[in-house]
Amino acid sequence: MAMNRIAIVGGGPGGLLLARLLQRRGRSPVVFERDTHAEERPQGGSLDLHSRTGQYAMRQAGLESAFIAAARPEDQGDRLYDSDGALLFDRDDPTDDRPEIDRTALRGILLDSLLPDTVRWGCRVAGIAPGADGFVLAGDGWTERFDVVVGADGAWSRVRPLLSNAEPAYEGVTLVELGFDVARHPTISMLTGTGKMFAVGDNRALITQRNGFGHIRGYAGLRLAEATAREWQASSPDQLRQALREDFAGWAPMLREVIETGDVIGVRPLYAMPVAHRWQSRTGVTLLGDAAHLMSPFSGEGVNLALADAVDLAEALTSDGGWMSVTRYEEAMSMRAAASAEGAARGLNSVFSPEGVAPVLEHYRARVSGA
Ligand SMILES: Cc1cc2nc3c(=O)[nH]c(=O)nc-3n(C[C@H](O)[C@H](O)[C@H](O)COP(=O)(O)OP(=O)(O)OC[C@H]3O[C@@H](n4cnc5c(N)ncnc54)[C@H](O)[C@@H]3O)c2cc1C
Repeated sequence: MAMNRIAIVGGGPGGLLLARLLQRRGRSPVVFERDTHAEERPQGGSLDLHSRTGQYAMRQAGLESAFIAAARPEDQGDRLYDSDGALLFDRDDPTDDRPEIDRTALRGILLDSLLPDTVRWGCRVAGIAPGADGFVLAGDGWTERFDVVVGADGAWSRVRPLLSNAEPAYEGVTLVELGFDVARHPTISMLTGTGKMFAVGDNRALITQRNGFGHIRGYAGLRLAEATAREWQASSPDQLRQALREDFAGWAPMLREVIETGDVIGVRPLYAMPVAHRWQSRTGVTLLGDAAHLMSPFSGEGVNLALADAVDLAEALTSDGGWMSVTRYEEAMSMRAAASAEGAARGLNSVFSPEGVAPVLEHYRARVSGA
């Protein structure tokens, strides 16, 4: 089969890195992105790139020095508090190798690495129809034919239904995302330390994470019915703050500052695809990243997997093995993601547990001792 005209649906980290790698191999992919431009919406908090996946992928794309220039290796610390505000764990080891990078900076590096007009901004893909000769993508007032379609379009992928009936399921936990400026919020900065802080109580957590440019991103997380999470998404910041005040009543005042003083950014119910999601390979269409294996952020692997998938898929799409190479990519990708998805589900259930902080403290201590 011809694999010349390649459409990548979604200009997130996975889709953009795939485009970069394909261009380095002489191909001319087109990325369809529903955002109308790169700054249309905030890209979210900081991400840590792991040596064998995220960092490896940036190296393979020739983007290691751009990554190092934008990364923050100094922000890898971990702190853990209980709901009374007692600091139970505080680690800041300069030998850790998980440098942080702001999502906007990562997206910027990837976009700058592409040939002009690779990304078609403001092109939401609404339909994908199989034809005698490839697939026809359709959006608002346009259609275009491709040999290969890659779904890099995240959690609610439009491409995935061509391959699988599986859908993301609500994980029972919702995060309210909050923003802070270090200059205006010294207590939050002190709490956060040099990286990330978790304060964990009975089925609840407050989380803050140092970002670049003097910002801190925070989350108030709790177990919530899906319908209530939807109502919260339609609530005003004041209504949300009041609801959180009630849910975190009795927590140490120092920790409650996270709720009292943060700018409300959004409400994020957490969804995940079934662990070890697989599909029957279908010539001409495949997936990478969250479209294939959405998981909760509690393994810290999501973006790392999306980038590693892009490396493997670029190799498969440009090898001599035809679609069989892509089928092998799908099998290996699914196995790799399954291990992380199990970790993410375990991580979520240990943070939001009726046992409070104990399971998380055990996890942190085990990580340090290498157990
Ligand atoms: C609160 C939170 C915290 C997280 N923290 C971390 C972390 O610390 N570490 C980590 O590794 N991961 C983290 N993740 C997960 C990480 O964000 C994702 O795994 C990662 O962004 C997946 O990349 P992707 O390229 O597969 O998809 P996405 O980043 O979701 O990109 C998909 C792109 O497709 C576009 N798109 C969607 N539909 C269409 C369409 N129909 N047509 C055209 N374009 C479309 C979207 O606009 C988007 O740009 C977190 C996630 C959340 C929700």
